[in-house]
Amino acid sequence: MTEQCKSTTPGEIRPIVDAARCEGKAECVVVCPYNVFEVVTLPAEIYRSLSLIGKLKARAHGMKTAATPRADQCLNCGLCVAACPEKAIKLQRHTTD
Ligand code: SF4
Repeated sequence: MTEQCKSTTPGEIRPIVDAARCEGKAECVVVCPYNVFEVVTLPAEIYRSLSLIGKLKARAHGMKTAATPRADQCLNCGLCVAACPEKAIKLQRHTTD
């Protein structure tokens, strides 16, 4: 656990990536101490949900976006939020319903 971590239970707070903002620059991958993120090809269903501007932006950035396959490991340190140049990440309490 880092000194910035505000949670003691992994995954109670998790990062949410705004695909309309994310440019897949991978700053979150670099800074996360718990390996929560991967940069992946933008899933087709998310691409389809973007506005025309969002689709053009996604194409301009190689159709890459940050995914959170290990969000259940997040300890709410906030490093990803601070590092993201596009302000595409917010932290949110995880609910199961
Ligand atoms: S807040 Fe961000 S950087 Fe920190 S553990 Fe969670 S996902 Fe990783």
